[in-house]
Amino acid sequence: MKKELLKVKCIGINEDGKGIVSINGKEYYLPNLIEGEMATVEISQNKGVTTAKLIKIEEESKDRVKPKCPYYSKCGGCQIQHLSYEGQSRFKQRNVEELLGSFCKVNDILVMKDPYNYRNKIHSTFSYNKKREIISGIYEENTHDVINIDRCMIQDNKADEIIETIKGLMKSFKMKPYDEDTRDGFLRHVLIKRGFATNEVMVVLVVSTKIFPGKNNYIKALRKKHPEISTIIMNINNRNTSVVLGNEEIVIYGKGYIEDILCGIRFQISAKSFYQVNPIQTEVLYNKAIEMAKFKGNETVLDAYCGIGTIGLIVSKKVKNVIGVELNKDAVKDAIKNAKQNNIKNVYFYNDDAGNFMVKLANENKNVDVVIMDPPRAGSDERFLSSLVKLSPEKIVYISCNPITQERDLRYLVRYGYKATEIQPVDMFPHTGHIECVVGIQKT
Ligand code: SAH
Repeated sequence: MKKELLKVKCIGINEDGKGIVSINGKEYYLPNLIEGEMATVEISQNKGVTTAKLIKIEEESKDRVKPKCPYYSKCGGCQIQHLSYEGQSRFKQRNVEELLGSFCKVNDILVMKDPYNYRNKIHSTFSYNKKREIISGIYEENTHDVINIDRCMIQDNKADEIIETIKGLMKSFKMKPYDEDTRDGFLRHVLIKRGFATNEVMVVLVVSTKIFPGKNNYIKALRKKHPEISTIIMNINNRNTSVVLGNEEIVIYGKGYIEDILCGIRFQISAKSFYQVNPIQTEVLYNKAIEMAKFKGNETVLDAYCGIGTIGLIVSKKVKNVIGVELNKDAVKDAIKNAKQNNIKNVYFYNDDAGNFMVKLANENKNVDVVIMDPPRAGSDERFLSSLVKLSPEKIVYISCNPITQERDLRYLVRYGYKATEIQPVDMFPHTGHIECVVGIQKT
């Protein structure tokens, strides 16, 4: 193996929050490096593959800060805590401008006043450390070794406290963490969701078997410490897989779901359905999307990739009717219940692939005035987009958590007679490299 030390300057930050350096015309991406910084980098060549590793930062950027989180160097859950929040915002703004700026001017990113402890959903994996003590936290990046994490800077504090209690109770209840290699043990993961507006808490215990000795006493002990826990679910996952949740769910305490309030509407959230992880910024995002749609009151709106129906139900008061489509069965069930519970009668939810559904709508020549679309990171697909332009709505509002696929899809829409009129980045995920962006689109 050939190794060489080089001094290089970081020329930018990529969408994963890694510093970009260019060596002999080839780009390398290094964690924990900021644009403008000089660094010593080790280049190694092994079997024709060249890799670069950060050895030392020689000249620090004025945007560099000491990460508040003690686990930052190992965890990987956040990627840019070493960058000041202003620096993060500038990086995200520029990233969106570079990707989408050619479509129209990009508004200033809407940032958080307090960019900490914003996540309402947390996931913790249970294991043993080398001393056979029970630990809980997340997998170290690119490994299956769990790093113990007691407090996370971006997660809800209450959820962290509950995880700590669960860890403490394991000893007295002789509950063993699951071992992926031997397939022995009981508790694999814990998922916690908290309604910030209602303070209701869901605890999902992902376990390897239905047999839960001392279950009732366990529930009592957990609830005694945390009376805000309103529901506890056992999720059985005995497969050899890195997927967290198994198929079977047993509600062992409470209703099996929690509720939260967004933009004045009450939502029911179950264990498996998607719910935005930053409720404070979700309201900011939705309000911007609604503003871009400029509803007059007589529109038919399609809420595509609707999750538990949040956007559609919120806009239902402002329009004639709403059609929602979503692939996840549990989310659609929640959406239908949410409409009933809020006594909303002009919204219809369908459980289907958004592309499939769009093809059907286009073939039926259905009239849709506004399409609000919020696809997952992979973006939309050709089936959806080609039927969307056939359906020919006056306005499209495209919400995305991945500006790269959003740019690709926007290019398609522009090719078929649409133009972007407003682009608004919203910081939904401070300290991570993730960027959320909403684009207002109009027929030309
Ligand atoms: N608009 C919602 C959900 C956005 S997340 C909100 O703001 O909360 C994206 C959603 O798309 C998820 O609920 C996911 O289950 C759904 N989804 C993923 N692929 C899909 C597809 N092919 N068709 C329809 N929905 C899909």
